[in-house]
Amino acid sequence: MAGGGKLFGLAATALKSNFTSLQKPYKLNFCMTYLCQSRCMICSIWQMKPQGELTIDEIRSFTKKNNSFRWVNLTGGEPFLRSDIVEVARAFVENCKDLYVVTTPTNSLCDLKMVERKIRDILELGVPRYIMTVSLDGHRELHDKLRGIPGNFDKAMENYKMMLGIKKDYPNFDAVFGYTMSRLNLGQFEQTFQSVKKFFPDIEYTDFHINLAQTSSMYYKNGAQSVSPIGEEASMEISQMYSKRKRLLDPMHLIEDAFMRKLITFAKSGKPPMKSRGLDASLYLDSWGNVYPSIMWDKKIGNIRDVDYDLANLWHTPIAEEVRKEIMDGKEPVEWTACEAHQSLVGNLVQML
Ligand code: SF4
Repeated sequence: MAGGGKLFGLAATALKSNFTSLQKPYKLNFCMTYLCQSRCMICSIWQMKPQGELTIDEIRSFTKKNNSFRWVNLTGGEPFLRSDIVEVARAFVENCKDLYVVTTPTNSLCDLKMVERKIRDILELGVPRYIMTVSLDGHRELHDKLRGIPGNFDKAMENYKMMLGIKKDYPNFDAVFGYTMSRLNLGQFEQTFQSVKKFFPDIEYTDFHINLAQTSSMYYKNGAQSVSPIGEEASMEISQMYSKRKRLLDPMHLIEDAFMRKLITFAKSGKPPMKSRGLDASLYLDSWGNVYPSIMWDKKIGNIRDVDYDLANLWHTPIAEEVRKEIMDGKEPVEWTACEAHQSLVGNLVQML
């Protein structure tokens, strides 16, 4: 199926999820590795020394048995610390025939020549869309402080420049900056944007994605920290940024636009705008094969290693049904992150519009 057909397939599945439960999830958030060389103040993943993560053979088995994914977020840790990232992407592209989009964040701390080679290799696999997010939480001084790495801001600029070069060769590739708003950088977005503009005069607000810092004991390992910027100030800051964004007709942009609109109200009230589609449209798979309804919810429903890598063996167990009931009853943890919100939006179209 060509890119247009796969986009249509993704849209049709998302539409269907408005009216009925899906038999199989179409969106996967997969943490390829918890390895990370950053030193972020809002996340403790970097303190882990992960061992026994899923091997490439296990990932291949998983993708062969679970090939319904149309949208895969290959995240980390730092994804490019996984030396076989191209093979991981290949497993999804080759086995998930309807795959439309792959997304990957990066902290810009790996060797950029290696990163460029691997991005180009992934694009050569023929995925219809590949979107990279370059993490950037502030202007030079602030970003380096929040990330605990001197020079990280300049590396991020270098990385983005490299990605603009790739974009010229591959129209299906895109790169945006990912800004995580927390209590520690509240009120600093505009200054950050202007500092990037000095490097890239054509940069637009549309080239930035904003997430709010949130807590997750099993993912960010920051359960005890209070990093959330929820409140009037955060809401205003996002609203100002949103008003400067271009309106584009691209489907991924339209979803991002809707995410931002809801983020403004979420930032103010702290109340999720709609129910999650976890364990229906999507799931979170950690680096050891544990399956959760979402990145934020420490409610493990099983491990793919225990069920021959076949999600079907976990999807309708009593614990999975219990989680779905909790979602219906509004008992899931408060969250509104892009990883989870995008499928909630397209699965709740009436509320999205
Ligand atoms: S936020 Fe990202 S870059 Fe920072 S420690 Fe966590 S995984 Fe690493």
